[in-house]
Amino acid sequence: MAGLPSKARAVIIGGGVSGCSVAYHLAKLGWTDIVLLERKQLTCGTTWHAAGLIGQLRASQNMTRLAKYSADLYVRLEAETGVATGMRQVGSITVALTEERKHEIYRQASLARAFDVDVREISPSEVKEMYPHLNVSDVVGAVHLPLDGQCDPANIAMALAKGARQRGAKIVEGVKVAAVHQKDGRVTGVSWARGEEQGTIEADVVVNCAGMWARELGQMSGVTIPLHACEHFYLVTEPIPGLSRLPVLRGPGE
Ligand SMILES: Cc1cc2nc3c(=O)[nH]c(=O)nc-3n(C[C@H](O)[C@H](O)[C@H](O)COP(=O)(O)OP(=O)(O)OC[C@H]3O[C@@H](n4cnc5c(N)ncnc54)[C@H](O)[C@@H]3O)c2cc1C
Repeated sequence: MAGLPSKARAVIIGGGVSGCSVAYHLAKLGWTDIVLLERKQLTCGTTWHAAGLIGQLRASQNMTRLAKYSADLYVRLEAETGVATGMRQVGSITVALTEERKHEIYRQASLARAFDVDVREISPSEVKEMYPHLNVSDVVGAVHLPLDGQCDPANIAMALAKGARQRGAKIVEGVKVAAVHQKDGRVTGVSWARGEEQGTIEADVVVNCAGMWARELGQMSGVTIPLHACEHFYLVTEPIPGLSRLPVLRGPGE
């Protein structure tokens, strides 16, 4: 098939934000002989549905570092690639309605601070000042992260894809990975299909970025990926007068 090589250093499966990010970062590290295969269109999976909230308050060190790195990257990605990412650093507030929750978010805040995330514990009256619509009568504590924000998730993925392409990565849509090959316990490549057309790509590395399909894909190689899809809700409204540039508000668990 035109555009698909028979060999590559790495094949990335899936063109959501994860696959595009892996392609971008590998290309940045000088891995230009790489191919990303997306069975439909870039961002057509979960990435298309995301609300685009960028939050740096996380439960573990690695997740905190990753979230901070991503937030910093998304701020400069538009200038680097020319793709509008919609990144707006409106900040975020997480409120606690119980003492237990307060301890949890304060602990997460200290962890974040250790990794240079801009975060501050704030009082219920400060919450009210920043978010006047909120009834704070049962808020016992809160944290504010001024550099959290919102973005357009599909465009973030497109910007990462463009950044990867600019450095030589190949990104091909409409090609499904049908099998992952291995020999002596090592991956050797993939088989792909596009309609009636089929082929193989030899590769040293295969990266599974198939999102909620990753488990099924992993099973082909006897790898168990502990992942399954869950329902996740959000509400889209018409513009509401007075609700403009507010911080993102989170009330975990309550
Ligand atoms: C309603 C909702 C709101 C969300 N809001 C947020 C939010 O505000 N902030 C946040 O950080 N996260 C949010 N998320 C989570 C976020 O969307 C996901 O974590 C993220 O998009 C996952 O990206 P991904 O690249 O791993 O998967 P996906 O975007 O699903 O990409 C996987 C891709 O792999 C492709 N693929 C699968 N199998 C194959 C194959 N065999 N061959 C080739 N291609 C294949 C698929 O077509 C798909 O495009 C939200 C999710 C939902 C559902």
